[in-house]
Amino acid sequence: MSGNKRTICALCQQSRPLRESHIIPEFLHAPLYEENPRRFNTYGLDGRPQLGLLQKGQRERLLCDECEQRFCVYERWVSDFYRGSIAAFSDTTRSEIPYGKKLRFSRIDSNGNPTTSAVPRKLIIEGFDYAKMKLFLLSLLWRMGVSQLHFFSGITLGHQEKRLRRMLLDNDPGSAERYACQLRLIELEGKLVADYQSQPRQYDYCGRKCCRLFSTGFRFDFMASNHPADDYDVDRYCVKPQPRYECWVDSILTHPDLAGELMKFGKDMKRTEAGNLQA
Ligand SMILES: [Zn+2]
Repeated sequence: MSGNKRTICALCQQSRPLRESHIIPEFLHAPLYEENPRRFNTYGLDGRPQLGLLQKGQRERLLCDECEQRFCVYERWVSDFYRGSIAAFSDTTRSEIPYGKKLRFSRIDSNGNPTTSAVPRKLIIEGFDYAKMKLFLLSLLWRMGVSQLHFFSGITLGHQEKRLRRMLLDNDPGSAERYACQLRLIELEGKLVADYQSQPRQYDYCGRKCCRLFSTGFRFDFMASNHPADDYDVDRYCVKPQPRYECWVDSILTHPDLAGELMKFGKDMKRTEAGNLQA
């Protein structure tokens, strides 16, 4: 699929056979709703919008087998977290939802009470594994930064790339405020925005470089800067070394960058369809 000339593994930098690696792991492309399996809207390899793309995810010759396996260990856990979160959001029959062997999700309203309403204000996750989640998020940020695919061209990590690579090789998740990461669920009118994946972007937050990816219901934010995150943000939003994480559920209307991007996607799609009709 990708025509890059890479001959050494981007992570261990050994000359080994390279796999067609996912940049965004496969579980983020997994079926969310049975009536609409493996379909969501995003920009394709050529940069044009695609509606209902049968998406296996964008791949690129990037990692050796051993390094792929290293990432798989985190991804298995995060995949449970992801599926459990979606199940807990959708389950309005109870306010506590166990998932797998160790995870437990509580639906909480804006007063901090258990709720079965369609849109909880937060999900509280017990059994949270900081090291696996953070290493997964760092690996995702690093992969988006080193990728040569057009889809990821908005992410440039500069000298942070080397530091992230070192942390991944050392299995070092770092402290919460270092390369601080946030997760949020994004909904519109009571449903997760599960049918869209955004092109990753960089933005400035209080003079610090941040990156974001929105994929199938989840917004990921990464601080890709030397400066540690503020205590307030870490406390309220970021993943941290505690067995519990409070994941906010936000309306897309409170995220104008995402809402704007979805509207732009709709316009680009109309333009592409009109172009196809004329051709
Ligand atoms: Zn390797």
